[in-house]
Amino acid sequence: NLSEKLDKALHVLKGHGQITEINVAETLKEVRRALLDADVNFKIAKDFTNSVKEKALGQNVLTTLQPGQLMVKLVKDELTELMGGDAEGINLSGNPSVILMSGLQGSGKTTFSGKLANYLKNKKTKKPLLVACDVYRPAAIDQLHVVGEQIGVEVYSDRDNNDPVAIAKAGIQHARANGHNVVIVDTAGRLAVDEEMMAEISDIHKAVTPEETLFVVDAMTGQDAVNTAKAFNDRLDFDGVILTKLDGDTRGGAAISIKSVVNKPIKFIGTGEKMDAIDVFYPSRMADRILGMGDVVSLVERAQEQYDEEEARKLQKKIAKNQFGFDDFLSQIQQIKKMGSMKDLMGMIPGAGKALKDVDIDDDAFKHIEAIIHSMTPGERSTPSMLNASRKKRIAKGSGTSVQEVNQLLKQFNQMSKMMKMMQGGSGRKMMQMMSG
Ligand code: GDP
Ligand code: MG
Repeated sequence: NLSEKLDKALHVLKGHGQITEINVAETLKEVRRALLDADVNFKIAKDFTNSVKEKALGQNVLTTLQPGQLMVKLVKDELTELMGGDAEGINLSGNPSVILMSGLQGSGKTTFSGKLANYLKNKKTKKPLLVACDVYRPAAIDQLHVVGEQIGVEVYSDRDNNDPVAIAKAGIQHARANGHNVVIVDTAGRLAVDEEMMAEISDIHKAVTPEETLFVVDAMTGQDAVNTAKAFNDRLDFDGVILTKLDGDTRGGAAISIKSVVNKPIKFIGTGEKMDAIDVFYPSRMADRILGMGDVVSLVERAQEQYDEEEARKLQKKIAKNQFGFDDFLSQIQQIKKMGSMKDLMGMIPGAGKALKDVDIDDDAFKHIEAIIHSMTPGERSTPSMLNASRKKRIAKGSGTSVQEVNQLLKQFNQMSKMMKMMQGGSGRKMMQMMSG
């Protein structure tokens, strides 16, 4: 999923101790892939990553101490901005204020009409009326009545009338006569955009001049949501978007695409079937959600806390000078152990990722490795080549392991040293890509 992908992207960024322009590009490629997976339109995703890249280079991300965190912040801020920056409320000053619901069948108009009525009713200053203008299915009128009863809000309907414009007008009259200061007009949708539906909704729109025309869209419909939004907006020039069905694991990439394409604020989200499953839309929270940022931020922070940049730099120097020994190996292992999940965090040790991954390391294996290294003399640790048969025997005995295990560790160590040396050379970039993949 998206959050895993970003984790991986930031891994690439963090893992090599040194950040290069190539890393930034790689990371943004992952971010773009992640956005596409969350149903963000291709062009929008591309523009987005380009814009983040420009900012990243402008802010000298490459030279900061915490490039991973800065990248996360840049990506998040940019996403928030893309979705509208601040939260937009709903605008109700008329008496009565008319709110018109539009959208496809099944998008959640009737449910949201109830939620919004309930939300406004709880504000105490509002006395909403629900008006049933879906005249095509008797069940639709029943549904609104059930909702109204649930929340204690009156529903106006007329089963003998099949003209939604007339019903809407009569509903507003009814509101005036009965002291309702908000009228929520629920309308019929179709399964897909068609001219009849568009003509009908725009007739209602003209007849009732709503203060808020809201377009309701199912967040799970992804790319289709964008096309539908565009069709409705071309016709109605609506005031805001309601994104429903954001419960479960819908990522909400539709929010980005819709906002970018129709340039209208998303005002509320629906997060369940119950009447209280309504939230004001906050762009920054949605950015968190889309990026699975909770996970990403904590990963980056964990890595930042535990992985000492200074250590990494010293280590690279040692490798360059061919001075990498078992003490360094041990301290690297201790670093990873501090960070928690072994597999996840493998890639963070420069050069060690691939070498250790092949060995299928677990916590027990670590214990043996540590024991073996602890049984070595300082000289043996810094100059592993002095480990002859009798020394190995002594170490195996001291650590409660076997000579085979000592040999195996030595083999791993040599493999790793070789790999690290290769990374210092011209093939470094290729190696990095290999390891991050
Ligand atoms: P309408 O045809 O646009 O009026 O859509 P409805 O309000 O009848 O909703 C269609 C279906 O989606 C119903 O089963 C609703 O219970 C469900 N629904 C609406 N909003 C949400 C939501 O935010 N989350 C979930 N999980 N289901 C929703
Ligand atoms: Mg309905």
